[in-house]
Amino acid sequence: MYNKKQLIFLVTVSYLLLACNPVEYKQKGKVVKVDPSHFITDNLLAEIEEKVVKLDGIETDCYVIKSRSRAVEHPMGPWCPTHLSDGADKGGIWFKDGKVYDVTGEFIAHLDKFYNDEEWKLYREDSSINVTNTLEGCLGAAKPNVEKAYQNHCVECLPEYFEDQSTTFIIPISPVYASRPSSSRHKALGLAFNGVKFDPPAPENAILSAHTLAPLDDHGGHVNPHGGYHYHAVTGSIKEIKQEDGHAPMIGYALDGFGIYAELDEEGKPSEDLDECGGHFDELRGYHYHAGPAGGNQIIKCLHGLVGEQISKE
Ligand SMILES: [Zn+2]
Ligand SMILES: [Zn+2]
Repeated sequence: MYNKKQLIFLVTVSYLLLACNPVEYKQKGKVVKVDPSHFITDNLLAEIEEKVVKLDGIETDCYVIKSRSRAVEHPMGPWCPTHLSDGADKGGIWFKDGKVYDVTGEFIAHLDKFYNDEEWKLYREDSSINVTNTLEGCLGAAKPNVEKAYQNHCVECLPEYFEDQSTTFIIPISPVYASRPSSSRHKALGLAFNGVKFDPPAPENAILSAHTLAPLDDHGGHVNPHGGYHYHAVTGSIKEIKQEDGHAPMIGYALDGFGIYAELDEEGKPSEDLDECGGHFDELRGYHYHAGPAGGNQIIKCLHGLVGEQISKE
């Protein structure tokens, strides 16, 4: 093992190496431009516009896509069951160790065993479930430091609390490959064709440490006060574009303009050569990503291109 001085030296050297070795942007493989006709126009608040925007210091031709923060091609919700006798139709999904679970009344009843922690108790003596069923409850619970009153609750925020929310995406029209993945934390990793965000992983530790669940609906999405409806999982509900060659269907765009495709190809097989972000190259599609499995809480892991911007308006 290293002592403290050696560690400080190693960290300093790594920083210097990174600083002297800035990220390089270069087209690599086939370049596929973003196709604005893929987006569902019903959910767009304005026509998709072209604009030159400086991204990481580079003047870049971008599309500006402004959408309502809601889904149109599938219903949103339900998220939390309200009674221990409720079945899977009354709740959404939750995940642990890569697996997806239906949030039923029975699932809620056994959370203490599921997490091996007897402090879990989301239900009352009359078998009703503690749900944040008001705007106030949603605001108090859907944040990193869950208010005491909302601990041991099933947390849900309804889309109607945030009807006026909109999201603007600025994405490069011709995506450019970067020599290394972008390390900054992004507010969104991309968007579906309905204009809804693909978000970074839900903050599982913050959620669980307050003894709360923040279920996704069966379509992989839920609502928060700062971004409206957004996805943490891809479950086959959103608009897909079938690929002629049996490759997994396209499901949206990453914030760097590269396409995002479903996890599995026509034969139900995942890709085996994915990089640290969940992307790879092929001759038809150039660089592109594949969504991770729904239980993984990670649609794509990072962005490997020149990254656009995303602005949420509340
Ligand atoms: Zn979320
Ligand atoms: Zn692929």
